[in-house]
Amino acid sequence: MEKQKVTVIGSGPAGLTAALYAARANLTPLVIRGIQPGGLIATTSEVENYPGFPDAINGFDLADKMEKQAARFGTHFLDGIVEKVELGERPFKLHIDNGTIVETETLIISTGASPRKLGVPGELELANRGVSYCAVCDGFFFRDKTLVVVGGGNSALDESLFLTRYAKEVHVIHRRDQLRADPVLIERAQNNPKIKFIWDTVVTKIEGTVKVEGVGLQNVKTGEESTFAADGVFPYIGHIPNTWLFKDQIDLDENGYIVSSGRARTNIPGVFVAGDVEDHVYRQAITAAGSGCMAAMEASWFLDQIEHEQTSLAQW
Ligand code: NAP
Repeated sequence: MEKQKVTVIGSGPAGLTAALYAARANLTPLVIRGIQPGGLIATTSEVENYPGFPDAINGFDLADKMEKQAARFGTHFLDGIVEKVELGERPFKLHIDNGTIVETETLIISTGASPRKLGVPGELELANRGVSYCAVCDGFFFRDKTLVVVGGGNSALDESLFLTRYAKEVHVIHRRDQLRADPVLIERAQNNPKIKFIWDTVVTKIEGTVKVEGVGLQNVKTGEESTFAADGVFPYIGHIPNTWLFKDQIDLDENGYIVSSGRARTNIPGVFVAGDVEDHVYRQAITAAGSGCMAAMEASWFLDQIEHEQTSLAQW
């Protein structure tokens, strides 16, 4: 494969916006779509807080529009997973799971973050047999069923509301007695007759033989244990940054997020970062998109400097 000027790993709002800006800078970027094409936003239901869509937009449609917009200006795409990166010298080398090696002058990392697992017995065994991390993908299969959603953040409430379209009832299990979600979502969930809350409680196991039959619970205040019959479990307890590929090559913080200087730069000149793989504070589609724009502009300036001014990398 010919050498790329700009390669983007990841195709969520951060990666696709980076690609859009790099494409419009005439850099014909390559986007490696990765494990979750479209990013996490493509697995969410209604997106009500992305500017420009007053009547909300489905997450999949939003990602699809972003991809088409990036493609329109010359972005090309590769379906594959990066298995190994060599960032010791430029051009950087990316080893793709189909055997391809991509060489690139600059790299924009926008690999996002993946749903955090509960880490309880039964979770792995019953994955796709009642345990799901994607209400939009799997909600349809739970018509008139009793569901459990774990977590107290925006994702937990957003997806609980979505699940009420199908489910008979949705029980939100939260480890505290206060929700972390935005007030507008809290109000909507509390006013939805299908949604009920179980406070101060954690899930200790997921029960079932061929499919989910229920969950084991523990009240964190009283220590009391109980079981709760349910047909499906949707954990929404936050995310883990997808940075294992870069471990030992790029500076990560204690939680595994890529450390940036604030201008989308990493500790390696020519390697930039955008979106949830770096941002553990805002984590919104719009902030990811904004950081993708920054990363592409920085990559473009970096290329200008090294190509036309022969500035030494030490000055970057
Ligand atoms: P989050 O805001 O980090 O919330 C995670 C929730 O899971 C918290 O309530 C947390 O409890 C709970 N939790 C964490 N670890 C747990 C464990 N081991 N066992 C049980 N519960 C656990 O994550 P998120 O809801 O996925 O949201 C991520 C980001 O995306 C946020 O910035 C959010 O605003 C954004 N988002 C926005 C929207 C929207 O605007 N519509 C929709 C979805 C997501 P504690 O509260 O006790 O810490």
